[in-house]
Amino acid sequence: MSDLLVNSQHGHLTASQRVPAIARPFVSERAARTLDLVEKFVEEECIPADAVYLRQIGETIQQRFNSHPQVIEDLKAKAKKLGLWNMFLPKNHFKEGAGFSNLEYGLMAEYLGKSRVASEATNCAAPDTGNMEVIAKYGSEQQKRRWLDPLLDGKIRSAFLMTEPQVASSDATNIEMSIKRDGDSYILNGQKWWSSGAGDPRCEIYIVLGKTDPNNPVKYKQQSVILVPHNTPGITIHRMLSVFGYDDAPHGHGHITFNNVRVPATNMVLGEGRGFEIIQGRLGPGRIHHAMRSIGAAEKALEWFLARINDERKKPFGEMLNKHGIMLERVARSRIEIDAARLAVLNAAIKIDESDAKGALKEIAEVKVLVPEVNLTVIDRAIQAYGGAGVSQDTPLASMYSNGRTMRIVDGPDEVHLLQLGRNENKRGPAHKKRLEAQRAKGLDLCRQYGIEPKDPLYLGKSVGGTSKL
Ligand SMILES: Cc1cc2nc3c(=O)[nH]c(=O)nc-3n(C[C@H](O)[C@H](O)[C@H](O)COP(=O)(O)OP(=O)(O)OC[C@H]3O[C@@H](n4cnc5c(N)ncnc54)[C@H](O)[C@@H]3O)c2cc1C
Repeated sequence: MSDLLVNSQHGHLTASQRVPAIARPFVSERAARTLDLVEKFVEEECIPADAVYLRQIGETIQQRFNSHPQVIEDLKAKAKKLGLWNMFLPKNHFKEGAGFSNLEYGLMAEYLGKSRVASEATNCAAPDTGNMEVIAKYGSEQQKRRWLDPLLDGKIRSAFLMTEPQVASSDATNIEMSIKRDGDSYILNGQKWWSSGAGDPRCEIYIVLGKTDPNNPVKYKQQSVILVPHNTPGITIHRMLSVFGYDDAPHGHGHITFNNVRVPATNMVLGEGRGFEIIQGRLGPGRIHHAMRSIGAAEKALEWFLARINDERKKPFGEMLNKHGIMLERVARSRIEIDAARLAVLNAAIKIDESDAKGALKEIAEVKVLVPEVNLTVIDRAIQAYGGAGVSQDTPLASMYSNGRTMRIVDGPDEVHLLQLGRNENKRGPAHKKRLEAQRAKGLDLCRQYGIEPKDPLYLGKSVGGTSKL
């Protein structure tokens, strides 16, 4: 065991030994070994390489969006050799992956979330992961050989183009991109933005959602998903969007227009009118991946927080920060919140493994909302402990905050999930009302049997023939 992985709380406990007890029965021996290897790879190889990556991207926009840091290719070669490759494709649904469950990969994704380069180094980076799942699950053999194979091999990258600037895209039925059949081709017209990954010089394929049948009375049958090679004539990347000023180069977030973009009809995925079904299928496990990486980011923020409050050089009002109770309380709250959020994510992963993403809608929505909140709260506490340095480029915290904040918007904003959760929870309301009424009525009867006059003001004067109304 390397010294880098030893710390005072865990001693020599490895990642697999720290798996929460509730999840342990679901982790195979092979996955436990791989998890330890992932931790070692991330801590000893990837986190130190983050600094190199940021330098190798370059300074100017021109350099940044044309760069492909060598350090990534070196890490990819090491990861492949170690067998740390494509762990994200769950074994019960895909034969192409490394043979782990959602839960097992979820545990690994936590460590990947601590480094800027680790996900890409192991070919587990978004949006490629969701895109590979789409092609593996819904693509034709021809589409798989042309696009899935090089993606699985880490030779090319991809982007998922759904969101449009002119409509509220959190409701996918609003999407307007036109996809029209013309002989052996489809012709696309419209615009997309927030096309993550489109800036990467290795991004060769766009997975595009648009409408083939905008007048279909069933609004979930209007959409289709089609594969569009990035260099098809008529495609223009107008600009790259920034997040709180960060350009996220080289992969970036593109604003792209399509002007009579013609692609072969064989590029249609699954068939016309199946787009909604495909994007629903894409999002389930991907949300768990984001959530587990965010747990890793929160752990990393807590580590930076602890490092700062133990910095002997910096003693506001004569004491190190670790002597100030308010800081220790924030540390304690962070520990509690991260541990609780992790359990929620692992629970959702187990539920997906036991059925599928549809069977775990509630659990997925819960963590989609909870985990970004926890992550942002912990990063915010760490930033505060660093004072001015916390919001500067001298720690990774500011950029982590920016990235963490987007998680409340991407893959559906919080409100959509809260609404869905609230509606479903509310369905239980009438039954609960009935049950509570019955329990109160029974309580009233019991009081009478024992010769006691009920004192609950809600019962008083409302008893009719041994029953009460709430
Ligand atoms: C960093 C980043 C990366 C992204 N990557 C991609 C990508 O790769 N591909 C892609 O297609 N898209 C991507 N997106 C876009 C993202 O998925 C959308 O921004 C998101 O779905 C919201 O859509 P919208 O921006 O059109 O907001 P709108 O749909 O206009 O929603 C705006 C706001 O309205 C509120 N709202 C929405 N619905 C409800 C409701 N039911 N009840 C109450 N309030 C509601 C919410 O506060 C919401 O934030 C990315 C976004 C970011 C920030």
